[in-house]
Amino acid sequence: DSFKDVPLHPTIIENIERMEYLKPTPVQKNAIPLILGGYDLLACAQTGSGKTAAFLLPILSKILAKLARLPATQANRPGARRTAPAPYALIIVPTRELGIQIFDDTRRFTYKTRVRPVVIYGGAEMRQQKEQLARGCEILISTPGRLMDALERKAVSLDHVKFLVLDEADRTLDLGFEPAIRRILSMSNLTRDESLMTMMFSATFPTAIQVLARDFMKDDYCKLR
Ligand code: AMP
Repeated sequence: DSFKDVPLHPTIIENIERMEYLKPTPVQKNAIPLILGGYDLLACAQTGSGKTAAFLLPILSKILAKLARLPATQANRPGARRTAPAPYALIIVPTRELGIQIFDDTRRFTYKTRVRPVVIYGGAEMRQQKEQLARGCEILISTPGRLMDALERKAVSLDHVKFLVLDEADRTLDLGFEPAIRRILSMSNLTRDESLMTMMFSATFPTAIQVLARDFMKDDYCKLR
């Protein structure tokens, strides 16, 4: 009943300790091993359940492991100039507030790592967000509308995305974002990529959510209720 019981990256374990999380919440206990095991996931989770860490911790662990495997000539050589990385993880959220909250959590969990998060959302000036995107990031957090906008302007590429999270999926659909979500998910390299992992978190499971899961997740996806 401890974060040390699961094979998370040591730096992530240190950051969990720094944040004084003593033990995993139920959704974390159930979801973390499944995500580390490579399964797609549809999880029932309310705000306050600890769902953010449930997907962030295993995704960050996998990204750190992947970065460690890159040859030293690439981005991870100390002091090396990096070419702007394209995001490995894409987290789609219904609202700006949730996006900022996940961004703040990601910053805390990535302390002392090279993993850089960026958050973009509508209702704010595009110019500054474009500059952020141009610098590159490993983790992109976005609302659906602004992501569509950024993709249309070619301000970001999803070609390297290996982890896709739909957080508060029911709220996202309630806000009318289903067409945008379907467009983003059908984009070339995303769903055709066999190694893509998709995770959906939702407080409720209306038909539209179940259909979305069936349409976009691998057949052996796990359900956590
Ligand atoms: P969330 O449901 O992800 O919005 O998380 C709700 C709150 O619980 C946030 O303030 C988290 O920082 C906190 N939290 C998440 N997981 C844990 C944990 N394992 N132990 C203590 N606090 C946690």
